[in-house]
Amino acid sequence: MAAPVGAQARKLLRDLALRPPLLAARSQVVQLTSRRWLNLQEYQSKKLMSDNGVKVQRFFVADTASEALEAAKRLNAKEIVLKAQILAGGRGKGVFSSGLKGGVHLTKDPKVVGQLAKQMIGYNLATKQTPKEGVKVKKVMVAEALDISRETYLAILMDRSCNGPVLVGSPQGGVDIEEVAVSNPELIFKEQIDIIEGIKDSQAQRMAENLGFLGPLKNQAADQIKKLYNLFLKIDATQVEVNPFGETPEGQVVCFDAKINFDDNAEFRQKDIFAMDDKSENEPIENEAARYDLKYIGLDGNIACFVNGAGLAMATCDIIFLNGGKPANFLDLGGGVKESQVYQAFKLLTADPKVEAILVNIFGGIVNCAIIANGITKACRELELKVPLVVRLEGTNVHEAQNILSNSGLPITSAVDLEDAAKKAVASVAKK
Ligand code: GDP
Ligand code: MN
Repeated sequence: MAAPVGAQARKLLRDLALRPPLLAARSQVVQLTSRRWLNLQEYQSKKLMSDNGVKVQRFFVADTASEALEAAKRLNAKEIVLKAQILAGGRGKGVFSSGLKGGVHLTKDPKVVGQLAKQMIGYNLATKQTPKEGVKVKKVMVAEALDISRETYLAILMDRSCNGPVLVGSPQGGVDIEEVAVSNPELIFKEQIDIIEGIKDSQAQRMAENLGFLGPLKNQAADQIKKLYNLFLKIDATQVEVNPFGETPEGQVVCFDAKINFDDNAEFRQKDIFAMDDKSENEPIENEAARYDLKYIGLDGNIACFVNGAGLAMATCDIIFLNGGKPANFLDLGGGVKESQVYQAFKLLTADPKVEAILVNIFGGIVNCAIIANGITKACRELELKVPLVVRLEGTNVHEAQNILSNSGLPITSAVDLEDAAKKAVASVAKK
């Protein structure tokens, strides 16, 4: 019997290839793909929203407990809400490594803000959407709390199955929307938007009504929905999620939470937004990879995989598992490749102490195999590679590439196809 294919690894890789599907269960995967779809902190998203006429609470940001206390005093509000800033949701129900429960706290006393902030900043906050150990909190948002009489859910997504933007809403907000989608699918409403025509008044009105906004609140909600959609387009977002999109007893429609993801391909025209990117929540190795236009995914096996394209990464992953091995990581080279990138890739792959063998599986379509081969031989020499290296190259200029490798005098094992490569890589690890 063949070993089962690692479901988690498959999922990770699939998410590299595809955009996060509509209302897909959120998991660590979203964190891992944040590099591809820039993710901003709540306070940054809310700043963009308020600059564009969307209603959010007054707030300050603090990175020390004393700043948080000062901010709470300065707000001069009846009640204050203190919120840990991390790039994951579910903070309300999260737990800090300091022992404090809840990443969102309401209080009337500014002094309490200071005390709570002390137990947030510098500690890890673990929620349903973070890795088990949580994510370190570096900043807190100190905002004017408003009473909430009703919580709804609103999101705007770029959706593959709709070939464009879609509004998604539910009158049951505040809670985990994935659960509503399962338990009460009839309470999830969608409006497909024609990206050329833009959002129609009737669509915004219908969504406001479906969300349960009544009387004058309906127009107000529709107006907010339109403003959110226009912002979504203007900033090249792939997702704007407001949960809760709430109403106050005073008759205000307010965005109490905000999560915006951006299309990384739009970086060239969204310079101000991308300048806000705080990469500190990424794995350092992912950031290092991104500097060279490489995509890195860490896994827990011992065979490092160097591939081009997420599809090939998935196939490589499967075939390693089928042959009884486990990938340690994946480095995706993508399309236009330079020799120096190959060198950097090897440097990153071999920096992981778990790695006991390297498998290169490159299909040269746009990529020229000879460039890869030159990169590999250079990397082997300069990095004094100590682990077995199995190389499978196929496609453009493959013969020259093979000559480069075989004439290099380096202990490189060539493979004729993917199956052969996986077998050889697994065998080289087993031998040790
Ligand atoms: P999340 O848990 O990470 O999604 O963080 P949220 O910003 O959504 O906050 C969690 C919950 O705290 C919300 O669903 C609200 O019920 C509550 N909350 C947040 N801000 C306020 C506020 O200003 N006033 C009140 N009354 N509740 C709030
Ligand atoms: Mn929320």
